[in-house]
Amino acid sequence: MSKTLQEYLNQNLTELKDNGLYNEIDVVEGANGPIINIDGKELINLSSNNYLGLATDEEMKAVAKEAIDSHGVGAGAVRTINGTMDLHRDLEEKLAKFKGTEAVIALTSGFNANQGAIPAIMKKGDAILSDELNHASIIDGCRLSGAKIIRVNHNDPEDLRKKAKEATESGEYNKVMYITDGVFSMDGDVVNLPEMIKVAKEFDLITYVDDAHGSGVMGKGAGTVKHFGLEKEVDLQMGTLSKAIGVVGGYVAGSKDLVDYLKVAARPFLFSTALTPADTAAITKAVEKLMASTELHDKLWENGNYLKQGLKDAGFDIGNSETPITPVIIGEEKKAQEFSRRLQEKGVYAKSIVFPTVPRGTGRVRNMPTAAHTKEMLDQAIEIYTEVGKELGII
Ligand SMILES: *Cc1c(COP(=O)(O)O)cnc(C)c1O
Repeated sequence: MSKTLQEYLNQNLTELKDNGLYNEIDVVEGANGPIINIDGKELINLSSNNYLGLATDEEMKAVAKEAIDSHGVGAGAVRTINGTMDLHRDLEEKLAKFKGTEAVIALTSGFNANQGAIPAIMKKGDAILSDELNHASIIDGCRLSGAKIIRVNHNDPEDLRKKAKEATESGEYNKVMYITDGVFSMDGDVVNLPEMIKVAKEFDLITYVDDAHGSGVMGKGAGTVKHFGLEKEVDLQMGTLSKAIGVVGGYVAGSKDLVDYLKVAARPFLFSTALTPADTAAITKAVEKLMASTELHDKLWENGNYLKQGLKDAGFDIGNSETPITPVIIGEEKKAQEFSRRLQEKGVYAKSIVFPTVPRGTGRVRNMPTAAHTKEMLDQAIEIYTEVGKELGII
């Protein structure tokens, strides 16, 4: 007899719960800002990706409301049928200017951007050299492409050289791509792009950077590729509009030919309805704000450095982050989860991240300071961290 759905669900849910891996999802009552409300309790929020605080920006809210009045609540169709609005065109033009590329294609999520762009370019008979710590949406996009996936040691130019040489000299593959995150979200480290791109160029690889955590954060807001001045060297720059930009959506920036092609070949673009008018107008406003001033970007980095210094001074192991992402490495999985629970009881919302998301024995609580936090909030968070750290014998 085959299993029923209920038997399958029972077995999996029981197993996850028994191993402490079942994630109970908290409901945030009200907006997602530096202070959030969960179960009627106010908490300092160090868990969002709302780096610049734009999720609740007043100017963006205002243009979103105007766009609903002028354009309605929905785009009405997929982009290729008749869902491309002047709002979408304006967003793509502005974003291309900001990224320093000829063109941009916008999609409804960063996940969709990777599902769309990778399989549109890479096919069976090709090979993809993929950093071992790449995001799940890259991994799924690569799988969907049918290309051979070759894992590259994390951020290691020598390993890339060795594997690029093997792949290109074997004559087995029609095309070879190197793909990497710009900023790695679990540790906050940044890809050594100048070295990696140098190797990629030696072997004429196609280059793809997923900059979901770098957009709005690196390169004065324009991303990791711009930070290193490599806009002309990276073929595909993918990004999200849901993290620092504060809304929802994803994009790929590159040459006009690349974008023209993705608009006829990326399946989530062809078969999924366009971004809503309100989202699109709000995103365009966010890009305008980032182009006009680095104030929010600067505040984000100031807050990130302040939190890092405070936690380090308190005696915590904060790893080797090069961005505002601040992990506090606890070690044992159960202890990391216990730490996060105690923080929440005392007023700080910071989630534990454990195996298999990070290697076994490196369980951590990850902190995401934003431009919207005040020094007082960060001081209070550091104080609560110190109390819990002493209580659990971590510091
Ligand atoms: C969050 C994230 C994505 C997905 O972006 P969404 O817009 O949230 O779908 C893709 N890649 C990386 C590296 C991410 O961190």
